[in-house]
Amino acid sequence: MPGRPYVLAETTWKAIRDRLPEVAVLPWGATEAHNYHLPYATDNLQCDHVAAEAVRRAWEAGAAVVALPTIPFGVQAGQLDIPLCLDMRPSTQLAVLGDLARCLSGQGVRKLAVLNGHGGNDFRQMIRELQSQVQIFLCAVSWYKVVDQRPYFSDLGDHAGELETSVMLHIAPDLVWPLSEAGDGRERRPKIAAMKEGWAWAPRRWTQVSADTGIGDPRGATPEKGAAYLAAVIDRLGRFLIDLAAADPGDMYADPG
Ligand SMILES: [Zn+2]
Repeated sequence: MPGRPYVLAETTWKAIRDRLPEVAVLPWGATEAHNYHLPYATDNLQCDHVAAEAVRRAWEAGAAVVALPTIPFGVQAGQLDIPLCLDMRPSTQLAVLGDLARCLSGQGVRKLAVLNGHGGNDFRQMIRELQSQVQIFLCAVSWYKVVDQRPYFSDLGDHAGELETSVMLHIAPDLVWPLSEAGDGRERRPKIAAMKEGWAWAPRRWTQVSADTGIGDPRGATPEKGAAYLAAVIDRLGRFLIDLAAADPGDMYADPG
């Protein structure tokens, strides 16, 4: 069979007509600078890979699931002064998500899971706004929150650090520059105590926080760490998709016990 039947970009109308997906997974990344050693498409490549592999995991267990094409533009409100970081505003994302949800809803797909791959994206309020307007069940998951990162990585920076570099060394090693080219990803911390402690929040102004656009030291990264972490993420996410495919959106809760 040419192409992966669970990846929409590679499958045919006949295959979809014969077996309508119960769950569509919409990967959503960003186009942004990732220190000096990772490409602008890092979030998209990761999202593409995780979505396809998690969907494969569920498909092979018999669930009718499909991975949609990755949306490559994320919220970059804190990076507007970094060339070619391409901002898609939350209000535009809401419009895009709404259009896709309405299409799928009218076509009989019962569940849509947004697979987020970028820290500046937040789909929760969008889903709150959209859910009452569509029949399709909406939910969101950020792939990097599926599994505790701490057993896998020694430096837990959140942008172009050890995690993302390890994952990229595993899934797209040809696109990773030698780590000798990378900056150290040193993060400057807020001066205001409440913001440093995390209970007051404002979007980070990236050029004030990091000299090389990275947050987290990438130098401990290895492809083996990336492979081990991703295997755990994909397995757990795949099991979620199996549960979601089997679930009845009208009966999602049970008494404790
Ligand atoms: Zn990233």
